[in-house]
Amino acid sequence: MTNFREPSIQPDEVPPAEDRVLRPQRFSEMVGQRAVFERLSIAVDASRIRGEVLGHILLDGPPGLGKTTFATCIPRELGATLQIASGAALSAPKDLLPYLSNASEGSVLFIDEIHRLPIAVEEFLYPAMEDFRIDITLGEGVSARTINMPLRPFTLIGATTRAGLISAPMRDRFVMREHLDYYSAADLAEIVRRSAVKLSMPMDNATADEIARRSRGTPRLANNRLRWIRDFSTSRTSGLLDVEIARTALEMQGIDELGLDGFDRKYLETIQRVFSGGPVGLDAIAHTMSTAPDTLEDDVEPYMLRCELVVRTPRGRLLTERGEQHLGALPKSGPQARLF
Ligand code: ADP
Repeated sequence: MTNFREPSIQPDEVPPAEDRVLRPQRFSEMVGQRAVFERLSIAVDASRIRGEVLGHILLDGPPGLGKTTFATCIPRELGATLQIASGAALSAPKDLLPYLSNASEGSVLFIDEIHRLPIAVEEFLYPAMEDFRIDITLGEGVSARTINMPLRPFTLIGATTRAGLISAPMRDRFVMREHLDYYSAADLAEIVRRSAVKLSMPMDNATADEIARRSRGTPRLANNRLRWIRDFSTSRTSGLLDVEIARTALEMQGIDELGLDGFDRKYLETIQRVFSGGPVGLDAIAHTMSTAPDTLEDDVEPYMLRCELVVRTPRGRLLTERGEQHLGALPKSGPQARLF
């Protein structure tokens, strides 16, 4: 793997060193998502054996479930180079040019948040994906002419939290479309145990299970909670850690037994208190909470819907009996911290 290039991300986007330590580097280090994992492994294997360029792949699912991890592991498995771009930063076709002209044969271009590509950029990508060429228009008006520029065959991996916003022509150009779902408690506990080893934190299984249970099925949250618990135990318990200490640290952050944090509960409470349980439109909830509807739709709602705390109806969001019970089961201000 001599030709693996580190992702081309901007310095202010460089993840903290610990994130890089915790992120799996190879397929063999990845936990969970077995069905997706198997299908991607087969495609990667076949491409390697036949010496053919891997087909384009679209990964979708809520934030923090491993889309970037899959996208960065795939080129490592192929021994190919990787370039990373963000859909939000590609505002015009010319922004794509450096990535496309730099793409070597068999390399991977990963576009995160691909649903945010403007339509002009998306259309510019179609011939690049399908025929490995781009059409560039030179001049204007009657003297305008289009030249075709051939590209070296490459693999595009797109990631999105909003599969529904990807246009049909774009979606159809991906050979594989994979959806990442929330992790089971057992898989998440395994991720917590592996991360704890990487962070040199001795931990028993009960503690790993408890952190997993309170991490909303999401590896990124599990790792964030783990780091907070490590800070808590260093500062308050001279490095001692058990399930009670982990629970106390998490409750101090307002994380309840379902893994919801204060912001998640504020969302449920807004529907319950301000809108009498709903149904209520997303925009109304977002305005009341002084937040962006996108934030609620991407980061908060998928897990609430998954846990059936809320349902979506044609007339808006409705708090379920389960949602009512969850709020009712908690003290008004959320879980209280026990002080050490
Ligand atoms: P996304 O791109 O979907 O938002 P990431 O790929 O950035 O999510 O994952 C967030 C973090 O979660 C990674 O840094 C990694 O540490 C951890 N992670 C994600 N998926 C896995 C997995 N399958 N096994 C182990 N850790 C994982």
